[in-house]
Formats: sequence, C-alpha cells, structure tokens
Amino acid sequence: MNKIRIGILGYGNLGRGVEQGILQNKDMELVGVFTRRNPIDIQLTTKDAKAYHIKDAKEMTDIIDVMILCGGSKSDLPTQGPEFAGLFNTVDGFDTHANIPQYYDAVNDSALKAKKTAVIASGWDPGMFSLNRLYAEAILPKGKGYTFWGKGVSQGHSDAIRRIEGVADAKQYTIPIEEAMDRVRKGELPDFTPRQKHLRECFVVAEDGADLNRIENEIKSMPNYFSDYDTIVHFISKEELEKNHSKMPHGGVVIHSGKTGLNDENNHLIEYSIKLDANPDFTANVLLAYARAVYRLNKEGIYGAKTVFDIAPAYLSIKSNEELRRTLL
Ligand code: NAP
Repeated sequence: MNKIRIGILGYGNLGRGVEQGILQNKDMELVGVFTRRNPIDIQLTTKDAKAYHIKDAKEMTDIIDVMILCGGSKSDLPTQGPEFAGLFNTVDGFDTHANIPQYYDAVNDSALKAKKTAVIASGWDPGMFSLNRLYAEAILPKGKGYTFWGKGVSQGHSDAIRRIEGVADAKQYTIPIEEAMDRVRKGELPDFTPRQKHLRECFVVAEDGADLNRIENEIKSMPNYFSDYDTIVHFISKEELEKNHSKMPHGGVVIHSGKTGLNDENNHLIEYSIKLDANPDFTANVLLAYARAVYRLNKEGIYGAKTVFDIAPAYLSIKSNEELRRTLL
C-alpha cells in the first residue's frame, strides 16, 4: 500500500497530537514537521522524521501528499491557511467560527489556482459537532438544537486571565449546567442566556503580593469572556496548578430535540456526546481522518476548499466501500 505522506506545519499541542495519531493509521507516514522556530530545538518522537524550518516546505511539495496545519486560529492560520493551500493539499482545525466564511474564501482561491484540495475548520467544534448539528436539523426540521461544551479547559479563557496584571498562570474550565441539559432532554425547547447554559471555573496562580480581590473582580467583569456567566475563582499555588490542572480535557454534547405527528405528539431526541482526556489528541485524529479524504479527493480531481459538510463519510475511512457496506452499514 502506498502510504499517505503527511507533513505537520506548527509543532504545538495539536502538532504533537498529529504526530502520535499518524502511528494509529497504517496508511499514513510522517515526512517532516515544519516550524518557525529553530528546528534544532524541536525534539520529535518519530525516529524517521525530521524537523525543518517552515521556509523549506516549498521545496518539498513533491514528497508530501497532505500538510496538516496546526498553527493557532487567531494569528497563524489566517495567513498560513491560504499560503499553504497554494502549495499542498491541506487540513486545518480553524475554529474562529465567526471568521469561517472569509477564511473559506481565501483558502478556496489559493487551492483552486494550485489544483489542491483543502479541508478547513475540521476537528470537533467546528467539525464533528457541526456535522451532528446538520444531520439532526435535516432529520427533525421541527425542533431545536443545543450545544453544551465541557467540562473542559478553554485555552482562550485561560489566556485572557493570564493577561491580567498580577496573574502568574491560570486554567479556566467551561462547565455545562446539568439542569439546562435536563430540560432539553425532557423535550422542552427553552431559550437560554449564556449564564443558564455554562458556568466558568478558574484556577489562578497569583504573583507574590498581588491584590487578589482586584484580580477576581477583573476576571468576573471581563466583557465577552466572563461578564455574561457565573464565574468561580480559586487562587491556588503553582505546584497545585501543575499537579491537578496540567491536562487538557474537554468534551461536550450536541442535543437536538424535535417533534413529529399531526399534533406534535411524538418527541424525538438526538444526542452526540464526547468526553476527551486530551483535546489536542482527539482533534488531531479528526484532522488525520480528513487528511485521508483530502488525499483521495485530490486524486479524483476535486479541488478547492471543503468543510466537513462537503465530504462523504466513506472518504474518511481506511476501509474500502465494500468493507464498509459489509461491516458498518
Ligand atoms: P499551540 O500549542 O499554542 O500551538 C500553536 C503554534 O504555536 C504552533 O503551531 C507552534 O508553531 C507555536 N508554538 C507551540 N509551542 C510553542 C513554544 N513552546 N514556543 C513558541 N511557539 C510555540 O496551539 P494548539 O493547542 O496546538 O492549538 C492549535 C489550534 O487548534 C488552536 O488555535 C485552535 O484554534 C485549534 N483547535 C481546534 C479545535 C477544533 O475542534 N476545531 C480543537 C482544538 C484546537 P511553530 O512550530 O511554527 O512555532
């Protein structure tokens, strides 16, 4: 079997997750990791692969089938996405939901010009959650969908706390509110405020002598991040943060409640739930399944940017269509 030759662009949490994930897919192999840092400082765990400087990537277009873009959505992907879609088939986990339409256009332009294929915004949200929202809405048009996130670490909210003066380090957990989920599961179709759906719990290491009351007030009143939620703040030691909060768990539930029957007498509930010990590892594995799809689509001459909505499920699987019909249908 000709293996799909994978490149990884950006070696953070997601990049490391992709490196490990490749080992679970026997039709894939890692060619190299590309970084903006000095490659000598990057220690890979894969023996046969090498770290390169990002500027070397454009010389390797004929030995990499799919480049997985693992940069941050905020400031890396908006430039790296369109640039690399003009050189390679790509997959990314762009997760700034509000900017997906513009990002799609930019990547689509580059990929079409270069006859490359790019899956954007895969992962779990956007990604698997988006797919499940779509399936549920198409099947139960008379109904309503709800997404609850957590319990899990939000990098964006943790970063926002770390920017407050006097904060040495912090982790923020997003926690779904059980009563809200129960109401949806009972077939009610409530409208929720952000506060009614999620709670925010923060573990903060303060610098010596910092004013804890001021820090707590600044967190709780921070617009866009905390002011619309009930927020709990714990001050803990650096050691406790390292011991109890160093992992990156996450998860969530997409629930869709719908009605059928002449008088709406039949309730139906669709629920898709994930509980992740390590968010980057799971996201990486989703990106790899879409790398397989990108590779196949490009071979079929299908070019441009795609989202999870555009890819038929069979393209994700290592199994043949015949085997899928026999074993999973
Ligand atoms: P991250 O660890 O902050 O890495 C982002 C980039 O920062 C890396 O590609 C790397 O680029 C650089 N970097 C990493 N560690 C560094 C270090 N020690 N010093 C200097 N630079 C370093 O971010 P991540 O956790 O991998 O997440 C990447 C993106 O995935 C997130 O922004 C998020 O948008 C997305 N995501 C999506 C989903 C989804 O469901 N769709 C889920 C999770 C995450 P260089 O190697 O070039 O320096």
